[in-house]
Amino acid sequence: MDTILVVEDEPGIARLVQDYLQRAGFAVARASTAADALAFVRAKSHSPALVVLDLGLPDLDGLDVTRELRRLGDTPIVMLTARGDESDRIVGLELGADDYVVKPFSPKELVARIRAVLRRGDSKAPRGETVRALDIVVDVPRRRVTVGDRQVELTATEFALLKTLAREPGRVFTRGQLLDAVHGVSFESYERAVDAHVKNLRKKIEPPSGPPRYIQTVHGVGYRFADA
Ligand code: CA
Repeated sequence: MDTILVVEDEPGIARLVQDYLQRAGFAVARASTAADALAFVRAKSHSPALVVLDLGLPDLDGLDVTRELRRLGDTPIVMLTARGDESDRIVGLELGADDYVVKPFSPKELVARIRAVLRRGDSKAPRGETVRALDIVVDVPRRRVTVGDRQVELTATEFALLKTLAREPGRVFTRGQLLDAVHGVSFESYERAVDAHVKNLRKKIEPPSGPPRYIQTVHGVGYRFADA
């Protein structure tokens, strides 16, 4: 059974999350401080399958905990953030957290996000392969993309963006991370350039009218490829 480590200093929220996770078939360990959480992860005897991390902890900033967890290994992290903490969310994702939910959150949604993150870890396609997501096929070695049975012509940047997003459906990417994936480096002042590339990419792959089917905007953060 997968153990989820819930790091949350508010007992009511921690208990609620624990109940839902246990009902969903997970074992749960709890920590109410950053120190306890890091001690738990460092004691490799019971390494958790995933960490649910409240960013507002009493003893250490949640972003510092994220950084430290990344230094220790690649345990997936789902952050719990307050509504106003948009920049924390972005920094957290760039530090390597996998996803976030905003308080007050629905425990059902949290469980769904956790399941999605764990699934992602199982199915990461190695580089150089063909990426399939919904009805899009990205043939990386041949640099060819089809949407349904229609072949589309993409620029190198659009191709790199689509490949990055489609490889991990459901994962939220910040603009900085997408720039990184495309150019190997991210400059903050160029982040808006990602919007222009995404706009062009959408013109080529999305249905001509209605909401985007493939590339979804995550307001205030970036983009993700639809996971259903
Ligand atoms: Ca808190």
